[in-house]
Amino acid sequence: MEEAAPDVRVRRAMALGRAARAHYRRTGPLAGMNLHAPVRPDWTCAGCGGHWPCHTRRSQLLAEFDGAPASLTLLMGGHFIDAAQDLRTEPAHLLYERFMGWLRQQPRPDDDQEP
Ligand SMILES: [Zn+2]
Repeated sequence: MEEAAPDVRVRRAMALGRAARAHYRRTGPLAGMNLHAPVRPDWTCAGCGGHWPCHTRRSQLLAEFDGAPASLTLLMGGHFIDAAQDLRTEPAHLLYERFMGWLRQQPRPDDDQEP
């Protein structure tokens, strides 16, 4: 049977994965911040050994992407897709919570304003 061409969602996920990998290859003033980088294929943290993204890395990412939440969401979406490929026995909803769930728990700029 001939394999079908990847659909647009797969191509988009692959592009996100490439963006995530490029993010971790970068150089410059923030290059040294990645001590808490993911170790694949287990997706443990190179810095503390916890599940990646660990608490420290989440804090770093929030600081790094301050004012650019959409970019952080795209980056984490790419990691989520990569992790789903590496951790095939992990339930999808748990992976989603681990990689994406913490993003929506962040306060939005207008959360502390009175209605
Ligand atoms: Zn860590």
